[in-house]
Amino acid sequence: MTVPERGELLRAPLFHTPRNPFLQDRALESHGDGGLLIRDGRIAACGDFEAIRGAHPDATTKDLRGGFLLPGLIDTHIHFPQLRVLGGLGRTLLDWLEECALPEEARMADQSYARDIAREFVHALASHGTTTALVFGAHFAAATAALFEAGESCGLRIVAGMVLSDRQLRSELHQTPEAAYRESSNLIRCFHGRGRLLYAVTPRFALSTSEAMLEVCQTLQREHEGLRFQTHLNENPREIAEVIRLFPWAPDYLAVYERFGLGGRGAVMAHNVHTTASELERLAVAGTAIAHCPCSNAALGSGLFALRPHVNAGVRIALGTDVGGGTGFGMLKEALQAYLLQRVAPDGAMLDAAQMLYLATRAGAEALGLEHEIGDFQVGKAADVVYLKPPEGTPLAAVLERTETPEQTLAAIFTLAGAESIREVRVEGTIVYK
Ligand SMILES: [Zn+2]
Repeated sequence: MTVPERGELLRAPLFHTPRNPFLQDRALESHGDGGLLIRDGRIAACGDFEAIRGAHPDATTKDLRGGFLLPGLIDTHIHFPQLRVLGGLGRTLLDWLEECALPEEARMADQSYARDIAREFVHALASHGTTTALVFGAHFAAATAALFEAGESCGLRIVAGMVLSDRQLRSELHQTPEAAYRESSNLIRCFHGRGRLLYAVTPRFALSTSEAMLEVCQTLQREHEGLRFQTHLNENPREIAEVIRLFPWAPDYLAVYERFGLGGRGAVMAHNVHTTASELERLAVAGTAIAHCPCSNAALGSGLFALRPHVNAGVRIALGTDVGGGTGFGMLKEALQAYLLQRVAPDGAMLDAAQMLYLATRAGAEALGLEHEIGDFQVGKAADVVYLKPPEGTPLAAVLERTETPEQTLAAIFTLAGAESIREVRVEGTIVYK
């Protein structure tokens, strides 16, 4: 029996990064015998179990020792209609779009198909420990609505928008700017700020949007309070060359979005693999975040992300799985891939476990302008929690018998934990996956 006013006290080792480990020492907080007190869906206390137990003797204790508690994972770049094209290896971006992604995205015109994918999609997020995702919807309003509805019924935090394009793709994915404005406005009225849902204006990329379409994006941002924004930036050299050809007045890719006032806090641009010092400086000043998608960058051969220059320039970065150009829904795996690619990148950063955890949690909250609400276990925040416990007999279970420090334990989790280790996922204290 739960006693919500007294709270539920979860007992397990826990980890979180209430500070940015790229900027501050000792950003990782951990408790080997941790206690996380949840009351009315919020974090009421976080620390050593015995101390919290003593201060809150009425709380109902749930003993979860043998596993670990992490903040809910936050995926800042993922495409809902691309679930079933995961695994399309052997191509680069523009060929992959043409041969794998866009034919499947066109199938979203079928509403019942889109509803099936939406259900599979939100289940995949939750079962991998992702509690918040910034999602590219479909090119169709009804399919995008199906995504929001599936997210709502699952209980996840979904930030998403209908994908806007009026050129360069296949004709059935194009809308007129007028229709894009009308349908986006309807979706915003219906879903933005409803429960845990938020709307993000979503031009696919500069390559597939005319100036008139980008003006629509600007108008939507001006007309509605608190919208987020997402798009792609500087992913692949052929893509970049095409963008510059289509917008001859633009000195670089980012300048296309800037011309229409698109960017700033709450805006997330995916990739930025092939960037310039000027673009980094302008992204930092604007507060625009970059969703780094290392699995996708490797799978599509897009290139090696310049992580250190982004950090040095003061650009916000977070992680995205980029399903289906990426390799799956696992944000722990994504953080490991970020580590691996930095190890082989020229002048790569040596990421540590605290930085990996930050990138997979709090950095995403900051990118989305939700750091007051989610991203770590600070008191008062929503209780978005992942309970992770490796199955017996797995290599991770064996390794964790031997780890001695919180950093070693976390590093082992990032290296070896997959969906099979995600046992329970909560959003605002409510179990959304078990
Ligand atoms: Zn993408």
